[in-house]
Amino acid sequence: MGNSFDINNLVRENVKIMKPYSSARDEFEGFDTADMIFLDANENPFENGVNRYPDPQQMSVKAVLAKQKNVKTNQILLGNGSDEVLDLLFRAFCEPKIDNVITLPPTYGMYGVLANINAVENREILLSKDFQPEIEKIIAAIDENTKMIFLCSPNNPTGNSFSDEAVAYLLQNFKGLVVIDEAYIDFSKKESWSNELDEYPNLVITQTLSKAYGLAGIRLGICYASAEIISVLNKIKPPYNVNELTQKRALDRLGDVEKIKNEIVSIIEQREQLLKALLNINFVEKIYSTEANFILVKVDDANKRYGELIAKGIVIRNRTTQPLCENTLRLTVGTEQENMKLIEVLKQL
Ligand SMILES: *Cc1c(COP(=O)(O)O)cnc(C)c1O
Repeated sequence: MGNSFDINNLVRENVKIMKPYSSARDEFEGFDTADMIFLDANENPFENGVNRYPDPQQMSVKAVLAKQKNVKTNQILLGNGSDEVLDLLFRAFCEPKIDNVITLPPTYGMYGVLANINAVENREILLSKDFQPEIEKIIAAIDENTKMIFLCSPNNPTGNSFSDEAVAYLLQNFKGLVVIDEAYIDFSKKESWSNELDEYPNLVITQTLSKAYGLAGIRLGICYASAEIISVLNKIKPPYNVNELTQKRALDRLGDVEKIKNEIVSIIEQREQLLKALLNINFVEKIYSTEANFILVKVDDANKRYGELIAKGIVIRNRTTQPLCENTLRLTVGTEQENMKLIEVLKQL
């Protein structure tokens, strides 16, 4: 299908014909603004660092990301967390009560929540027992109103990534958008699919500064896609969706390449330690392999163990109600001290 892909077949009719909001600052992109007087946006003129509206296109942040990820700035959209980016995808491409999306449980809960908010049918095709996409079943679920397939890889809560063959097959054979959520990609040995942007016009990748980059508090989500897809999302995004403090903080942190790398290495080391220690906990029945900063384990009685840990002041995630996840718990890798405490408490139970 590659060549026959046309973004106009996917965009909602109202989005196609609408005129985007033009913010005061939109009109001055590219100008040398240093000596200009801005009396256009009804801001308070007294400087305090954040009295002006932020750059609606976040060009300084995008410039750094473009360089680091080897993509063009017009292939990047930033949002108030990945959650906003994912919501924009629904609002740009899915006609409420008509279109549908495909998600692959057990997976990140926000895809289903966003489908509900946007009145879009969510067709759930369970992963296989080894947590891989069931390609034949996915293909069978696709119809002319299927706009997006969500692939979370590495997947939350299972921790594994999806086979390259399965992902490539969907990219090549599905004429809607294949959205790959790479929130945990920096903890994996796998390369990001962002290297394949020029190969697949229907590829959308989301990443975040919330996990490996240690900035969950600033809310910065990233979308990489073709310039055509990005321009559709730009058309509907709130004009100032990434605030000034977030842009500044992100820029600072993105410059700390070595520090981030070291933290990731350390989290992965701690993950491996934790995996070993879990082998010695007698009520742990299965430890799933992981390429993320968390570990999914099957225990004898998840509700019981979850309650016992809470009572000891340790909060983890009980995933027992998720399909294929009966009696599982998801443990985030913490600091060395936190992990040692966790193991100590688990041993005592
Ligand atoms: C944590 C997580 C995110 C991050 O969401 P933000 O809104 O960017 O914090 C995205 N996708 C998955 C699968 C996650 O687990």
